[in-house]
Amino acid sequence: KTMQLTEVRQAFIDFFKSKNHTPVASSSLIPHNDPTLLFTNAGMNQFKDTFLGLEKRDYQRAVSSQKCVRAGGKHNDLDNVGYTARHHTFFEMLGNFSFGDYFKKDAIAFAWEFLTDDNWLALPKDRLYVTVYHTDDEAFDIWHKDIGLAPERIIRIGDKGGLYQSDNFWAMGDTGPCGPCSEIFYDYGEHMEGGLPGTPDEDGDRYVEIWNCVFMQFNRQKDGTLEPLPKPSVDTGMGLERISSVMQGKYGNYETDLFVNLMNATAQVIGVESTYEPSFKVIADHIRAVSFLIADGVRPSNEGRGYVLRRIIRRAVRHGNKLGAEGVFFHKIVPALVAEMGEAYPQLVNKQAEIEAVILKEEEQFAKTLAQGLRLLSGELESLNTGDTLTGETVFKLYDTYGFPTDLTADIARERGVGIDEDGFNVAMEAQRTRAREAGKFDVDYTSSVKVETPTEFVGYDLLDNQSQII
Ligand code: ATP
Ligand code: MG
Ligand code: MG
Ligand code: MG
Repeated sequence: KTMQLTEVRQAFIDFFKSKNHTPVASSSLIPHNDPTLLFTNAGMNQFKDTFLGLEKRDYQRAVSSQKCVRAGGKHNDLDNVGYTARHHTFFEMLGNFSFGDYFKKDAIAFAWEFLTDDNWLALPKDRLYVTVYHTDDEAFDIWHKDIGLAPERIIRIGDKGGLYQSDNFWAMGDTGPCGPCSEIFYDYGEHMEGGLPGTPDEDGDRYVEIWNCVFMQFNRQKDGTLEPLPKPSVDTGMGLERISSVMQGKYGNYETDLFVNLMNATAQVIGVESTYEPSFKVIADHIRAVSFLIADGVRPSNEGRGYVLRRIIRRAVRHGNKLGAEGVFFHKIVPALVAEMGEAYPQLVNKQAEIEAVILKEEEQFAKTLAQGLRLLSGELESLNTGDTLTGETVFKLYDTYGFPTDLTADIARERGVGIDEDGFNVAMEAQRTRAREAGKFDVDYTSSVKVETPTEFVGYDLLDNQSQII
């Protein structure tokens, strides 16, 4: 079966509607009233208080396709973009939720039916593997006895901090709802590289995590203790771009309809023929994050959410420069994005002009110093070898004089196998602060760390605007 991204999104909503779930529109990327969170990073965020028993809803089951950004905070994938085939800064998370209604048994049965039943995705069962939390015999037995999965397809995984990346205890942040989880992986086949979860080469592209089913049971406190939730609940998340890639028989998200079109549009805007360079992926990814963040009210600034937005724009601009873009280009990709996603997200259509204007202004501002900064940086990199480190003073000079966020400098240095001296950067930054304080004109905030603050532009939940037509 082949399905386009929009069809997969619709099928997911329809399936869970048929299982008595109430469709709920995506919430804003700016978390509503939650200072612990930089950006909405999962479908469950808007239901946090419902899981905690603080807010009552008139339904016990919900389904959504949620806009997410993972570019800071606990879940940060900014540095993965361009390097893995499956990570974005902005993505859509499909999710079904139970607020004290069904638990493990139904959650697993629903997921399996949606993925494998002929009326839905009809994926071959022998392509699927699952993980469970290492002590969760209940989940293991459901997969083995109820679903009929062979034990060698069910992998027990512990907490993060173990040998490898995987982690089967999901948490939204350092505090808040959390619980053991069970994840579903798709096997792209022997010709791809990479090992099963829980093995040293689990980060390869052969086995891709598509769906995480979290059995919400606890509220993690500041001191780390786990307090039981009022009622065991369910929160699941499936990356729409990843499952679409599977449904299109493509070996990565960037080969799907949506991204191919965005990369072609980028090539056209910049005036080059092929879209082979990884920079195209970065730009296609970043135009989505940037446009959706601006549509939700974030503006480039020197701190908090606005600084993350600025960093993403500047990274995209640098990648365009690398591809040979002459002058401003990034805002010119917005129309292609609107063509791709405007139907599902009318806010993009309504705010297109505003989005373009904000990007253009930031592009123009950065253009003034980009070339000079790059010249300084390549001069420094020339004298370094793979494995070396760029001095903190250089990183600071690029930051302070040329407007290079440290992660941008790190991204460029990494292409040459060079690291950056973050401690040295912090020392230089502190010295700068002291000088400014002594000079008595401490009116610039040099905070590079990302702290969560409420941007002044945020005008609250614009429900009408966020109402997507998919529901
Ligand atoms: P990964 O291990 O691949 O980084 P994750 O375990 O961090 O993913 P979850 O927090 O479990 O992800 O989120 C639920 C689902 O959302 C994942 O199974 C995946 O399909 C999707 N997803 C997570 N992060 C991203 C991302 N950066 N870009 C696209 N999809 C993502
Ligand atoms: Mg991750
Ligand atoms: Mg994972
Ligand atoms: Mg996961």
